[in-house]
Amino acid sequence: MGPFSRCLSILIYHRVIAEPDPLLSGEVCAKEFDWQLRVLGRWFRVLPLGEAVARLRDGTLPVRAACVTFDDGYADNVTAALPILRRHGLPATFFLATAFIDGGRMWNDTVIETVRRAPGNTLDARSVGLDTLGIATPDLRRRVIDRLLAALKYLPMEERQRRAGELSAAAACELPSGLMMTTEQVRQLHRSGMQIGAHTVNHPILAKLDPERAGNEIRESRAWLEAITGASVNLFAYPNGKPGLDYRREHVDMVKDLGFEAAVSTARGVAQAASDPFQLPRFTPWDRTPGKFLLRLMQTTFHTGAERV
Ligand SMILES: [Zn+2]
Repeated sequence: MGPFSRCLSILIYHRVIAEPDPLLSGEVCAKEFDWQLRVLGRWFRVLPLGEAVARLRDGTLPVRAACVTFDDGYADNVTAALPILRRHGLPATFFLATAFIDGGRMWNDTVIETVRRAPGNTLDARSVGLDTLGIATPDLRRRVIDRLLAALKYLPMEERQRRAGELSAAAACELPSGLMMTTEQVRQLHRSGMQIGAHTVNHPILAKLDPERAGNEIRESRAWLEAITGASVNLFAYPNGKPGLDYRREHVDMVKDLGFEAAVSTARGVAQAASDPFQLPRFTPWDRTPGKFLLRLMQTTFHTGAERV
């Protein structure tokens, strides 16, 4: 691979929140997303992921090519991110976990919103295998969220969901039900020319499932999205997405055998012609100023050779 081989930077986002939120410090707010797109639009050729993958394969990728992707299916992708994308005239691809559409809530949000709303200075976390945790300050609440998410993430899917539910029941607080997109919002995204990709039904760690269930998770999420949009869905994102830890070779083969055109992981790096199109790496520039954000984008284009299984 010579120094002039073309690179594809695929950015990954989850939420675009209306205002900065100390309990969601890893998410961008609308204002940040706006200037990030301004920087991207000025310095990069931003392509739909499907087109970028095809051009990577054909050797016709433009210099400084980039894609914008979103995982999970948060409603704020439509209410906050979509208007900003349209204002900048940039495309994006949205990978949706279909079980949560129309009022569902992912287990991690049950945890986050429970800790946000729990009354008093302590939280009973015995359902998660932890003790009583101090939540007197916003900073403590943020740290408690990190501990709880880490304790639950790799439990079997049903147990993870159940324990998160028990945590919120013990705290006796009302949780939001409008965090994820509605069916109509999925259609709206598609009608706006945005690309829709599959991200399983229940967002399991695929590596923790038996092969039949893993295959069903991938297949059924695509079938649902195709029925809703009336268009074919050819792109897939592995839940959590760490090669070897969250998915294995057999899942890559499943995605390929099911006829998808490409898939993205969360291995950090940029894609090149030699990259596996079914394990394209992504990254999130976390810098909070436009200059540093651009610098990191430019530097990351030298970080190739991403992990794969
Ligand atoms: Zn996800």
